[in-house]
Order: sequence, then C-alpha cells, then structure tokens
Amino acid sequence: MSSPVVVKFSSPFIRFYGLVSPCVSVNLQSRVYRLVSGRCMSTSPTPTPPPQCLMKPINVPMKTLMGPGPSNCPPRVLNANALPLLGHLHPEFTQIMDEIKEGIKYAFQTDNTWTVCVSGTGHAAMEASVCNLIEPGDKVLACVNGLWGERFAEMAQRHDGDVATIDIPMGTVFTLQDIENGLKENRPAIMFITHGESSGTTVQPLEGIGELCHKYNCILIVDSVAAMGGVPLFMDKWEIDVVYSGAQKVLSAPPGASPISFSARARQKVENRKTKVRSYYFDMHHLANYWGCDKEPRRYHHTGPISNAYALREGLARLAEESLENSWANHVKCVHKLHEGLESLGLKLFVTDKLARLPCVTGVVVPDGVNWKDVADFAMKHYRLEISGGLGAQAGKIWRIGLMGHNCTEHNVNLVLRALGEALKNVK
Ligand code: PMP
Repeated sequence: MSSPVVVKFSSPFIRFYGLVSPCVSVNLQSRVYRLVSGRCMSTSPTPTPPPQCLMKPINVPMKTLMGPGPSNCPPRVLNANALPLLGHLHPEFTQIMDEIKEGIKYAFQTDNTWTVCVSGTGHAAMEASVCNLIEPGDKVLACVNGLWGERFAEMAQRHDGDVATIDIPMGTVFTLQDIENGLKENRPAIMFITHGESSGTTVQPLEGIGELCHKYNCILIVDSVAAMGGVPLFMDKWEIDVVYSGAQKVLSAPPGASPISFSARARQKVENRKTKVRSYYFDMHHLANYWGCDKEPRRYHHTGPISNAYALREGLARLAEESLENSWANHVKCVHKLHEGLESLGLKLFVTDKLARLPCVTGVVVPDGVNWKDVADFAMKHYRLEISGGLGAQAGKIWRIGLMGHNCTEHNVNLVLRALGEALKNVK
C-alpha cells in the first residue's frame, strides 16, 4: 500500500491541509475535488469566495436599550446564554424546561398544565395562539387600540377566521361596557385584547373581561408581551384563556423563546378541533408533549432553542427572586420619576388618563418644531442610549421610552432625562 502524503493548498480564499491518497490529481483553477476515503467523487463548480465581512471580528457595542424592547440583559442572563449546549432531550435540559414552566406559571399566576415556551419571538407565541384556537369560519373579535390588535386581526384572517374589530384611538383603553357591546354584537368564539399596548403605551385593565367573555361563551386571548412582570397579571383569577409574552422585555432575556399558557377551556377548544392545526411547528399537541405537559414520554418535535432557554430560565429566576410584587412596585416607582422628569422638561405624556399609562413603555409627545429622530440620534450618539419613535398613527409624533426589568432603575431614568434635556437644547 502506498503511504498517504500531506498536501497544503494556500490561496487568498482557500486554505486546506489534508491527507490525500497520492493517486489524486488536483486542478484548483477550474474544479474543486471532493475527497472521500481517498477517492475522487464527482466534481462541483468552484464556490463563490467567502464574504470578507466575516473575516473581521463581530462588532457589538454596549448600548442602553430604552426603547420598547429588547431591554438589556443582566450578566447572569448573558452568562447563561453562553453555557455549553446540551442535547434538547437530555435530562439536564428537560429539567431546565420544567424550571422554565414553573417560572412562567409564577409570572402568569396560573396552574395551567398547558404552559410552555414557544421557540420564536413574541410573534411566534401570537401565531401559536391564533393557529391553535382559530378554525376556518370561527368568529373572532379583536380589540384594536394600536398595532397589536391590528396584527392579531390580520393573523386571524390569514387563518380564515371571520374577523371583526372594535376600534378606539391609540392611547386609550377599553371599558367593560365597550367589550360587552362588542361581544353582544359579534358573538365571537374568540376575543383578543392587548394588555400592554407598546405602540399606544397603554395598560388595559383586564379584571372582569374574562368573566364577560365566558358569559358570551367566548375564549379570551391576551397579549402580555410588553406588560407581564411590570404590572399585575393574574391569568387564573381573571379567567384569561390564553396569555403569551416575550423574553426581551421585563424578563430581560434575549428574544427567541416566548412563554404561553392555555386554560383548560382553551385546551378543550384545541382538542375538539374538527381540522388539524395548520402549523405543525406551533401545534400545541406536539408542543405540550415536548414540554412534558402530558403523561407520555417527551418526543422529538423540533430542536428547542437551547441557549435561549438557559437565558430565559435565568430571566424568570431573576423575576422570581425579586418577586412579582417588588417588580411591579419598582416599575411604578421608576416610571413616576420618569413622568415627573419629563414634565419638568416641559414635555407632555401621550396617554392623558394616568391610570391607563403603561409603566413599561412611556409615550412622550414630540413638541412642535422638533424632529423626533434628531433627538433619538443625539441620545444614541452622545449616550449610546436608545429611545424609540412612534408606530402607526403615532409615527413621528411620539417617542417611546422603555423601562423594563433589569433596565428599570432610577439610574436609567436619570440618564434618559439628561439625554433628552440636552438633545432638546441642541437639536432645535
Ligand atoms: N406584542 C406586543 C405588545 C409587543 O410589544 C411586541 C414586541 N414589540 C410583540 C407582541 C411582538 O414581539 P416580538 O417582536 O418579540 O415578535
């Protein structure tokens, strides 16, 4: 047998060391040869050169994220994100999944068996609620006071729901009477409402809405992506059938794994479907099994976002250690300080009803003659601080300032007030 020889190829784009059988002839100019067990395989075209941008180190500056999300992650969350991967069905990982479920149950204040985490951002959890609950022709009522009601209505239409909306201006919230009128008139099977409307910067009072929905034989879905952990949420007490949230707001974890929970009533609706859930990925029958919510052994459904799950576990642990009561109180304390400071700068808050102001995201009216973007750019340039603009009807008209979870500190309130004050003097 001939002994193998070591070959070395070097060009700007190709570096290759290997052990090759001496019988191989190599023509790098026109062809790349695949070498398997010393034998030449079929030829393939020369690939395009690798992108030069990837030859430089990754660039991630430190910024203070005070828009409506993501918010900064504390070191314990970032450290957890960097832990070694486990197999997605290894016992140590399923233990972490179980801990996440306990954390979500605490954060949502629920005992629901179908409490899991959807692999994806808040939109994924939103899609999961839509595709599991809505069957073609189901009557759906979306309460719209900003972007999120609109988006839910659009998703529900894409799933062939028969969708109606009740619409009120951004910056205002629904009364129980508005809701009862909507239920009476439309007789929906499913109703959607947003808890923390991050585009309108309002917090929707939820008490009583679940009872009303159930009186009209309707399932209630609540989007608490921008509210959970920052304001009270009692899923079971308030008879909410589905709640979903996100990782990157009050939980201060990276986006990509989103908590969701289904009540027994919602679960029954999913189990009694006449048609299969249209999304395989978000089908709660599969997700519930993968998350250990039934009595069966966990089966492979998809590869869970392992590193995101570690980080979310730590975000939930941070909230549990702080306690919900302290977290709610801290959001109120910091946001009051922010409101006072904004008013002393001569700025007006977008939401006029004090009780309807969402502590997690504050809307501030952009004064006449000021370009919102100049101010946001000033804050970014001089303070590496993110302040966001408005969305939809409020684009260009308001700033949105986030105070969530790990970022909700008096230090950050002072920082944002200083940056805004200086920006307003400098950009006119
Ligand atoms: N709902 C609300 C109220 C939100 O604020 C957001 C995120 N801004 C979402 C849903 C969607 O979440 P994501 O961007 O993580 O998909």
